[in-house]
Amino acid sequence: MPEDGPPKIGVLALQGDFLEHAGILRKLGVEPVEARILEDLEGLAGIIVPGGESTTIGKMMVSSGLLDGIRSFFYKGGPVWGTCAGMVLAASATTGPRQPLLGLMNALVERNGFGRQVHSFETELDVEGFDEPFTGVFIRAPFFEDVGPGVEVLSEIDGRVVAARGENILVTAFHPELTDDPRFHELFLREVCGIHERS
Ligand code: GLN
Repeated sequence: MPEDGPPKIGVLALQGDFLEHAGILRKLGVEPVEARILEDLEGLAGIIVPGGESTTIGKMMVSSGLLDGIRSFFYKGGPVWGTCAGMVLAASATTGPRQPLLGLMNALVERNGFGRQVHSFETELDVEGFDEPFTGVFIRAPFFEDVGPGVEVLSEIDGRVVAARGENILVTAFHPELTDDPRFHELFLREVCGIHERS
């Protein structure tokens, strides 16, 4: 851990709800960095790809060079967390029409898997490693219908995977940044990024 200030966590800020993530990160004592161009990835201890519209974010990542930039950050061991649209983008394949994907996780994603806007809902989720249920806020949420080796399922609803992790990646189909519960942010920082609270 560098002694010169708090660790920096990027939040991809091309479109979607990046501000909410930044607010929680700040409360947890790390410095959020809004990532819009390739240079913004320098010195990051991890990056969050937020919810929004995965097709729009994907196209903007292609034109900004961040699709390749985040891929190479990840393949060098950089920690990534995708929420909702970010989970779609993290997948290696989609059941829907072709769209740019980061392809960081060996998984088949179903976009809008729970239905469209009207099918937004909240539900209590059992999450691997959490003592108490977590309130999942689902907004046109995806799910993984199939995951490959190396993907650990953290939570599912009737066989639909809604939270999972790999060595340096976390995905959630729901929006922890829209709740007051910091447990997923803490999990990402501690277990995926290896950031431990400094006393
Ligand atoms: N359904 C959207 C998509 O596929 C994701 C919605 C969200 O991020 N809340 O991009």
